[in-house]
Amino acid sequence: MGELRFVVTAGPTREYLDPVRFLSNPSTGRMGFAVARAARAAGHEVTLIAGPVALRTPRDVRRVDVVSAREMLHAVRQALSGDNAPVALVMTAAVADWRPAHRAMRKLKKSQMSGTLRLVRNPDILKSLGRRLRGDVRIGFAAETDAPTAEAVRKCREKGLDMVVANDVLQPGSGFGTTTNRVAFAFPDGHIEQFPLMSKDAVARRIVRVARQMAEREA
Ligand code: C5P
Repeated sequence: MGELRFVVTAGPTREYLDPVRFLSNPSTGRMGFAVARAARAAGHEVTLIAGPVALRTPRDVRRVDVVSAREMLHAVRQALSGDNAPVALVMTAAVADWRPAHRAMRKLKKSQMSGTLRLVRNPDILKSLGRRLRGDVRIGFAAETDAPTAEAVRKCREKGLDMVVANDVLQPGSGFGTTTNRVAFAFPDGHIEQFPLMSKDAVARRIVRVARQMAEREA
């Protein structure tokens, strides 16, 4: 097959309500950085779109830093446009679903805050991407706290993905901030592949391998 480009998102997004306060989540970006490293090690060209994280850029990977979900959407669109090589998009980022309806330019005083914060929905990046080109592969992640696999299959279909990597974030050694992960791969036909606890690097290598196989099939 021809060349396959990887576009990987990682980390959390931050949704500011004023210059010093934001909504976010505990994602460290480790899983996404591991996917970027694994894809590069397998010889692919990689763009890594990272929310605010404290990790070093993998060697020979193009990194784009973003803060909010809307910035991440813009960066993903930019990365997908351009040359016509098929793209494997791996969305490991823990995108904030909501953002404050208003962002103050100056720090809000306690007296200016009412105890109620009005939120608006962020765009769903995966859902908003639309049509894909021949050979493109789209992989999502699902951090769940119950019935991870059934939910992952549903998400896979709903977001038009080739695969969803599900992890139960309440399991020991799995989820946010760990170096290991216990995951299952869920496919739109309902097929599920369960894995034992593995390092995030090992999970990343499997994801890259599956992405390549799927791209070859679809090309
Ligand atoms: O629906 P949920 O947020 O659980 O789906 C998770 C998957 O969707 C992840 O791959 C995440 O990166 C992606 N996502 C997205 N845009 C959002 C929220 C999540 O692309 N606004």
